[in-house]
Amino acid sequence: MSSVDSPVFPAYLGVDVGGTSIKIGIVDDSGQSLAHGKIATEHEKGPENGVARILSFAKALLEEAGVIWQDIRAVGLGTPGTMNVKEGELLHMPNMSGWNFFPIRSYVEEQSGKPVAFINDGNAAAYGEYWVGRGREYDSLVMFTLGTGVGGGIILQDIPLHGDNSHGSECGHITIESGPDARICPCGQPGHLEAYVSATSLVKRAKERLAAGEASSLISVLQRDGVISALDIANHAEQGDVFAKTLVVETAEFLARGITTMMHIIDPAIVVLGGGMDFGGSASPIGQIFLETIRRTVTELTFPVLAENTIIDFATLGSSCGYIGAAGVARKQYGQISS
Ligand SMILES: [Zn+2]
Repeated sequence: MSSVDSPVFPAYLGVDVGGTSIKIGIVDDSGQSLAHGKIATEHEKGPENGVARILSFAKALLEEAGVIWQDIRAVGLGTPGTMNVKEGELLHMPNMSGWNFFPIRSYVEEQSGKPVAFINDGNAAAYGEYWVGRGREYDSLVMFTLGTGVGGGIILQDIPLHGDNSHGSECGHITIESGPDARICPCGQPGHLEAYVSATSLVKRAKERLAAGEASSLISVLQRDGVISALDIANHAEQGDVFAKTLVVETAEFLARGITTMMHIIDPAIVVLGGGMDFGGSASPIGQIFLETIRRTVTELTFPVLAENTIIDFATLGSSCGYIGAAGVARKQYGQISS
């Protein structure tokens, strides 16, 4: 944001917890980020230590934004892994096992003295895009977050879909392949979308085919570094490597199957694609090929009226969508309560 409009109060503290870093921001009532930054998760120090550092960093952000703590109405907290949204409790945290079963909502409430809205990170990201991002003009949105894994979020008429057991909106774990050769998802089940379109699975598919003898400029990277990354594949596709480009197109086709399924269940106004693995997004020719292939494949797979009307596009908030969305959910839950 090049210039900051006058803040609209009250403001909210948005927190997006990840395995490596925690993104934190002060977000005003209009969805404008007044100050933001990130700290290392250092999950091995435990959740109490993490919460203390989050609140300490938030104080520094308040100073930077020229906002006083009394202007913060509530805290929005998004976390990965499985959780019990109703009880405000973390269940199983991937690679952060010291945080398992921690009653994080009540703990942050005690430590901050503010009400806390608790949400999974996928729905937080989706709410950010719904509130002030690519979905801001629409009243229903499905988001796919493409990274190391595949996350998702569903917002219907301003309501994030948690489900009865806090396992709603798991867009990465819908089945797109059911044959005997279906790939196994990190969750252990065969044929899930994540097993086909995450950065991890993209690299796995690439290495399998290179090992089978397909020609590609990626072979030199593999020989030099011993590994290839999703970014290498994107870069080599950009430089004209046919094999890398085929992988991008194939990824788009797999993703289109998952998108079509969600369209047939939800019929959202817009499907938004976020996360790091966007092949450069709309600014890049490969990102454009990725998106066009998704749109074309969805058109082949879905009903004509959905093909014509459903918007499919890249997200616009980048890595800020999580803390902005968490703040937005805090505003939705506590914005009307007088302080
Ligand atoms: Zn799965």
